[in-house]
Amino acid sequence: FERDVIRNFSIIAHIDHGKSTLADRLLELTGTIDKMRKGINQQVLDKLKVERERGITVKAQTASMIHSFDGRKYLLNLIDTPASSSRIVGHVDFAWEVSRSLAACQGALLLVDATQGVQAQSISVFNVAVERGLKIIPVLNKIDLPAAQPEQIAAQMQAAFGIDSAEVIQISAKTGQGVDAVLRAIVERIPPPTGEATAPLKAFLFDSSYDRYRGVISLVNVQEGVLHKGDKIASCYTRKKYEVTDLGIMHPEEVPTTCLRPGQVGYIACNMKESSEAHIGDTLHRAGVPVEPMPGFKPAKAMVYAGVYPIDSNDFVKLEESIKRLTLTDRSVEVMRESSTALGQGCRLGFLGTLHMDVFRQRLEDEYDANVIITAPTVPYKVVYKDRIVTVSNPTEFPDVSDATCQVKEVQEPIVKASIIVPQEYLGEMMELCFSHRAEDLDHRYLDSSGSSGRAILTCTLPLSEIVTDFFDQLKSRSSGFASFDYEDAGYKPSKLVKMIFLLNGKPVDALALIVHRSAEQEVGRAWVKKLHKIIPKQLFEVPIQAAVGRRIIARETLSAYRADVTAGLYGGHHERKLKHLNNQKESKKRMKRVGTVDLPQEAFYDMLKTG
Ligand code: GDP
Ligand code: MG
Repeated sequence: FERDVIRNFSIIAHIDHGKSTLADRLLELTGTIDKMRKGINQQVLDKLKVERERGITVKAQTASMIHSFDGRKYLLNLIDTPASSSRIVGHVDFAWEVSRSLAACQGALLLVDATQGVQAQSISVFNVAVERGLKIIPVLNKIDLPAAQPEQIAAQMQAAFGIDSAEVIQISAKTGQGVDAVLRAIVERIPPPTGEATAPLKAFLFDSSYDRYRGVISLVNVQEGVLHKGDKIASCYTRKKYEVTDLGIMHPEEVPTTCLRPGQVGYIACNMKESSEAHIGDTLHRAGVPVEPMPGFKPAKAMVYAGVYPIDSNDFVKLEESIKRLTLTDRSVEVMRESSTALGQGCRLGFLGTLHMDVFRQRLEDEYDANVIITAPTVPYKVVYKDRIVTVSNPTEFPDVSDATCQVKEVQEPIVKASIIVPQEYLGEMMELCFSHRAEDLDHRYLDSSGSSGRAILTCTLPLSEIVTDFFDQLKSRSSGFASFDYEDAGYKPSKLVKMIFLLNGKPVDALALIVHRSAEQEVGRAWVKKLHKIIPKQLFEVPIQAAVGRRIIARETLSAYRADVTAGLYGGHHERKLKHLNNQKESKKRMKRVGTVDLPQEAFYDMLKTG
């Protein structure tokens, strides 16, 4: 295949708008998969279990198709991108994966559901594709549904993306209606890749997987030169040398070929033993013939952290093993050990975003049947001292800024640019929600004008810490489920943050420390102290529960004493009852954590930390 008959493209869409269904239909129409085996092949591109359950494409899958058009054979390479989820947020979680997949494409099908309209993730994936200079083909899906509003949604697409609504292709990925027009548009509108066969080899590595028998299998896009079986290649990143032992195209499973030509997308196996040697975004070249590497990728950067502890501290080794196994398939999770006086030995995990954390948590629970305690998520803060900047993602390590001797110049917190798409009637409610989460630079515009059911897009900046806990749930409930939300990084900003600690009987409890904005310290302090008062069982003596910032006590409740000598009321003859009672006490003692002089049930931590 010469490069003028090659088309490299992705399908980008908000979740459930039909990406997998359209991919299946394209594979079918081009004869890549057999219609008869449809039942089995249903959504061949989505492979992982969690993915299927949650409808999210976590790991990208790629396939090549051969399509005859106007008497010529075209090689269409569909490069799959992980989709964003409407369940939480998506851009930050998978943006870097989307971005790396799109680096191998010249065009993208932008798919929008004709009943749902443009959603927050439609816009964020569109922006990534535009940044990468891709040709966008707008496609309106699900026009077979009675609730479809093709004209209105096409107008929305025009308003949201600045494209001509006449360019929008109307299809039903389910029935196949209009899908041939999509194939035609891929051939006619997307430019072929550039790159010369005679130039020195330059191949872009954009995905990899591990095969027990053959080692690492990488997916590459040959940008220049020709790659043959037996070639000696080297990595720009690690400078290690390899020999290509097998190569071919994904059709949709691996089909060996003799070479991969400029513009082609395919798999290669070389003597790469460890997954860690395959660097996503790496450039491969002929050994001894170095080339300028492709512009690097921003490495995945953890922005949401949480501690994970086994309920039974004896299970730590088992938990750590499960975490290690899971991170083999998802290397963007950061893992560190941490310990807490209250919870014992555990791990601190760093995630790209809240959806990423959620997906990982579910995998961990599937894998590791015993229960784990996951602490409230926190974000990385920058603490600026006179001579250095320290990043702190664990509240216990946060300095007491009210102490004049600690020499902290300022504290900065991560900020995001958020966008919310919502029917106009909920706009006021959404603005209130944002303001109550310290929103700034709030702005909005209308995407269409069909009365209150028309859609508006609201943008603002928010502190990341404000959206990692209950923001999304509130967004959904206060918009009756209609709002869609996404966010992207917007750097750091100085902020008046303080560390709040909780004292039981005068002793601080490390696992309960929080970082809060100064303006919210009273409210937060009072609420938590009330909650602790409810959760902690009475002790044999009176226990003051206090929230403090530095030396200032912000809030206090007093837990009254449990009536002394509980066995006093039992008669001597009622031996059994007495024994039983003592045994019960012993039983529950085991599950208690002693903090200073106070016994805390494990469940108290669980309740507190879980609800953040
Ligand atoms: P993805 O999350 O973007 O991959 O979306 P899927 O391809 O999994 O589709 C989500 C749901 O929409 C599935 O239940 C599909 O059967 C359904 N769907 C996809 N395309 C169409 C269509 O054109 N018409 C109808 N009626 N349903 C569709
Ligand atoms: Mg899908």
